[in-house]
Amino acid sequence: MKEKGSDTGELEDLWENLKLTEEECSEIDLGEMDAKIRVEGSRSLIGKVWVDRQIGKDIVEKTMARVWRLSKPAIFKDLGSNSFVISFATHVDKERVMDGRLWLFDNQLFTLKLFDGMSKPQEVNFESEVFWIQMLNLPLGIMNEDCGRKIGSSVGRVVDVDVPEDGIGWGRSLRVRIEVPLRQAVARGRTVNVEGNKVWVKFKYEKLPRLCFDCGWLIHDSKGCRMKCVEKEEKSQFGAWLRAERMGKEKACGAGGVE
Ligand SMILES: [Zn+2]
Repeated sequence: MKEKGSDTGELEDLWENLKLTEEECSEIDLGEMDAKIRVEGSRSLIGKVWVDRQIGKDIVEKTMARVWRLSKPAIFKDLGSNSFVISFATHVDKERVMDGRLWLFDNQLFTLKLFDGMSKPQEVNFESEVFWIQMLNLPLGIMNEDCGRKIGSSVGRVVDVDVPEDGIGWGRSLRVRIEVPLRQAVARGRTVNVEGNKVWVKFKYEKLPRLCFDCGWLIHDSKGCRMKCVEKEEKSQFGAWLRAERMGKEKACGAGGVE
């Protein structure tokens, strides 16, 4: 049995190779985007649950309403492939959910993107998500915003470094919020050099989703893990030890997912 994803891919190829007739090529001018949709879109997000099996819209809608603690439930519309348009009752709800990323559904990554009227249902880019990463083992002398940004930018786009106004981030760890690309193994740390001393900086993730212990990906496409056919000789290089034990103050509530 063919997987759904590959079927869709083959179909797309066939469509692209078609030679269109004059009638098919002639453009139908649809003008601008629908004003009503534009308004609805401004308090909507697009989300995707990264899981190989198909999940029902109703269960995601019900679960996330509880996780997000919304004033009024958000309405989910199914876009296929476990992705949804999520319309919130208020802009405040939308902003709060967007700012509170990341979110989990049943311990699986639930990526959220802003509504963009030009995206097509199958082509929304869910290839990154924002994580709070705790950097451990940093020498006190470099625990600052600048250092957090330097190390963080080797992982993805740095959104924020959790430091007070003076920029000094002394604490158990340095917390950096990073937009991480998802189609790769999760970063476990970085080697830095401080005044000639080599230091291994460990990463821990707040709200780490279920991850593949074989390849370290947080997501898999419909074909699943390519590493599974490789005979494992070494101990797994990834594990639940990447999960932060303690969450930051702003992430302490709304742990997400299904208990
Ligand atoms: Zn894998």
